[in-house]
Amino acid sequence: MTRSSLRWLLGICVCGAAAAAPAVEDRVAGRFIPADYAAQRIEGLLGERMQANLKGRLLHVDDARLLKGFQQRPGEQAWIGEHAGKFLDGAASAWLYSEDAALRQKMDGIARGLVAAQLADGYLGTYPDDRRWTSWDVWVHKYDLIGLLRYHEITGDAAALAAARRIGDLLAATFGDSPGRRDIITAGEHVGMAATSILEPLVKLYRATGDARYLDLARYIVRSWEQPNGPHILSALRQTGCVFQTANGKAYEMMSNLVGLLELYRVTGETEFLEAPKTAWRDIAAHHLYITGGTSSSEHFIEEGRLPGGEINNVAEGCATFSWLQLTFHLLRLTGEPQYAQEIERTVYNQLLGAQDPANGGLCYFTPLIGKKSPTPGINCCVSSQPRAIAMIPQLAWGAMGEGVAIVLYTPGRAKVGDVEIQSSTAFPEDGRVTLVVRPAAKRRFPLYLRVPSWTDRFEARIGKDTLRGRPGEWLEVRREWTPGDAVEIRMAMSVHFVQGGPDYPGFTAVTRGPQVLALDARDNPGVPYLHRAAITGTRVEKTAAGRYQVAGVAVTRELAEKKLALTLSPFSEARTYRVWLAPKDRLSTAPVSVTAFERESVSRGGSFGYGSMVDERPETWIATARGGRRDSDSFQVQFSEPKTIQRIVYLHGKSFPDGGWFDDVPQAQIQRTRGAAWETVGNFADYAGGPAMKDGQPFEIRLASPVSALALRVIGRPHGFTSCAELQAY
Ligand SMILES: [Zn+2]
Repeated sequence: MTRSSLRWLLGICVCGAAAAAPAVEDRVAGRFIPADYAAQRIEGLLGERMQANLKGRLLHVDDARLLKGFQQRPGEQAWIGEHAGKFLDGAASAWLYSEDAALRQKMDGIARGLVAAQLADGYLGTYPDDRRWTSWDVWVHKYDLIGLLRYHEITGDAAALAAARRIGDLLAATFGDSPGRRDIITAGEHVGMAATSILEPLVKLYRATGDARYLDLARYIVRSWEQPNGPHILSALRQTGCVFQTANGKAYEMMSNLVGLLELYRVTGETEFLEAPKTAWRDIAAHHLYITGGTSSSEHFIEEGRLPGGEINNVAEGCATFSWLQLTFHLLRLTGEPQYAQEIERTVYNQLLGAQDPANGGLCYFTPLIGKKSPTPGINCCVSSQPRAIAMIPQLAWGAMGEGVAIVLYTPGRAKVGDVEIQSSTAFPEDGRVTLVVRPAAKRRFPLYLRVPSWTDRFEARIGKDTLRGRPGEWLEVRREWTPGDAVEIRMAMSVHFVQGGPDYPGFTAVTRGPQVLALDARDNPGVPYLHRAAITGTRVEKTAAGRYQVAGVAVTRELAEKKLALTLSPFSEARTYRVWLAPKDRLSTAPVSVTAFERESVSRGGSFGYGSMVDERPETWIATARGGRRDSDSFQVQFSEPKTIQRIVYLHGKSFPDGGWFDDVPQAQIQRTRGAAWETVGNFADYAGGPAMKDGQPFEIRLASPVSALALRVIGRPHGFTSCAELQAY
């Protein structure tokens, strides 16, 4: 018998881990308790992706680079210190599940390196002494605590807990509202939210040690939010119910604070700490969640219902995907309510897996709904956050609920929940048939809760002669006396939905099947040269091959003629160059296609705003350069994947505002012939006259005397405050 099968039978960890018990019992027990990592196996799609996360990503993290910033201060970036703790947390989950020896060795090395880098007074940051507690320094200590506490939790390592305590002691001696203490709001970015998100591991430190000073510090942090200079998280959510109107709307930091608040609720039982996270969750789910279960545009919550999906819109920061899952998972644990379980499924099967390169475990920072994915193996916040989320999947799948067992995610695999073994056989998410074999240690009565997805039109569970029907969006409770080996045959319709595009894509359609959002991927559609000029005309979506579906449609050919054909749709989680939102048939243009269409666009100043894209052939969408600051020029740029021949350039003004949005001079068109070459002016938009009276989408054109070959194109001029662009086209 292998060790892992022994472990499986016992349902406990026999792998040498001395899991540390908490010193303080939670006041709130919660309703859903996930199955232990070690007491389960997850196969199928989720299992493959967890494997890619382990083998492709976690085992290849550059340990030396993770630790260097601590060993040789200052670190290479202001936030370089966050990655060690993020790694330890994600690796801890992956190791509990896999027992991978090489991963354990890597974790041990990073934990030891982190502890060794701590200064005598407890400081464990990457900043020089004279810049302590500025910028992202508290934030880095947050991730130190998260990593060290998690490592201690799974290994019982006393040195890691001692190092975490020294950090806590230093923080408690540094921050507070008594005389001589520092204001934590001024010690971090985003209205202090980056610093105050240390709330989460401070509560965990209190739970691990029982030391009341850490709880006092946590309470101070919650008070600090309501200081005049604070983010007012509690009062703003209470008054507006809206995350966009709370602090500066920074999604990752705000949700991290709310996760900390839920930890505080668990240990104190004070219900006011539960209300704000619930309010925020409702608002995000209703108004700020992409169809794929990601949130944030350029890392912020934006106006209600606005969900622009292009690459330039910086869709769904990976860190926000993790924080959203964390927030949702906490609420599921506390309440057991099915809406949380439903959103876990949406996010896992779409946004989270969609951000991962299944071939090598690389991850995207942003993951658009329209465009190209850019997964990387590098070190950045999102590439460190999302492996934590993928490694957490076993916690999200199944567990104990009330006195029974709950199935949250349908997946092939098995789990042991208390004394009940569950064996799940299914080809989900391709197929809606699931067989669950239920084996309690002995015959007994308890409820089995089956999540009935909100997207299904029909959900039946057959046990022996009984057939039960579930209501979409609820739990189906199967309460009976279970004999070991009883089988539940689930049949759920993998219903297809044609979803409307909302304010950003009026008239556009996306297709979902079962839990998966489908996309029109260039790889699968050689007969569709222009993805933005393809429309769905049929209403039947047929499965054609593994993970591929067809629907009748029409597309514009290279010869600029409309042609009826079958469009192939594939899961968003697998797509590479694709569209989720497909144009309505009456928007298919057969005009010459701009060579800029769907090439990579950018603006000269970060912090750009607007909705949509300048390369989407939709003049009604526009982007603008950032407001504020003085500069001589602003530009809108399109980078081509290969050299393009250009003879005519069209620039469409975006939108004029009372304080700007246009050029004060005559803007120029410039090209770059090769990558990195100097920009050459090829003409100017001679009849341009900027001002508040310009029409939205007003076009200006340059015809070149002879064609030029370019690798990039831009329009550049002197901004009136800031400038805007609806389209930059070239032919
Ligand atoms: Zn990030």
